[in-house]
Amino acid sequence: MDIVKGNMGWIEVIVGPMFSGKSEELIRRLRRAEIARQRVQIFKPAIDRRYSSNGIVSHSGLEIASELVADGAEILEKVQARTEVVGVDEAQFLGESLLDSCTRLADLGKRVIVAGLDTDFMGRPFEPMPRLLVVSEEITKLLAICARCGNPAVHTQRLVASEELIVVGAGGMYEARCRRCFESQLAAEKIEEEKKLQANSKAASG
Ligand code: ADP
Ligand code: ZN
Repeated sequence: MDIVKGNMGWIEVIVGPMFSGKSEELIRRLRRAEIARQRVQIFKPAIDRRYSSNGIVSHSGLEIASELVADGAEILEKVQARTEVVGVDEAQFLGESLLDSCTRLADLGKRVIVAGLDTDFMGRPFEPMPRLLVVSEEITKLLAICARCGNPAVHTQRLVASEELIVVGAGGMYEARCRRCFESQLAAEKIEEEKKLQANSKAASG
């Protein structure tokens, strides 16, 4: 954002797969706002308590304090009138109400910075992020490094057997993969494997 006159607000979105540096970039922008003595409020979904219950933590260990919310609507309730900058991490877990909250906050003249996954473990659009991109002023798409081959990674590979959309975790459960190494059906295949193993062990013991 170069020219901004009056008290115009706007929406900045940071997307990419896991390990691409979204939290790092969000924390960097929020810290700079704090250094500029702007009033900052930071939110993350209550389901994401991977490393810390009350802060946003990057995989590289950067940390910033945050408030927990159940959904996007709760952000609108919690933002104070005097707040100038609103930061949100892991926004893909906050549901459709995130769109309305971000739009209203930007309309009120606030700078809204939102980070989240744009695709899920099968490579499908992860709502509400794709729709947030449409209403935002600025988009930053980050890439990770493919854990298999070192190429730029656009995907989040789930390594464990689960077809649930939301399985919160980091260590060993997910890795970044490039478009060549990404296996969209891997989680589903693992479930089939487990079912076969269980059936075999039942047959063996019975
Ligand atoms: P995100 O919020 O997108 O999941 P983070 O900001 O939490 O990403 O973490 C980014 C950091 O993770 C990198 O700076 C690096 O230190 C570390 N990292 C671990 N694995 C990878 C990988 N495969 N590709 C890139 N960075 C990685
Ligand atoms: Zn690869």
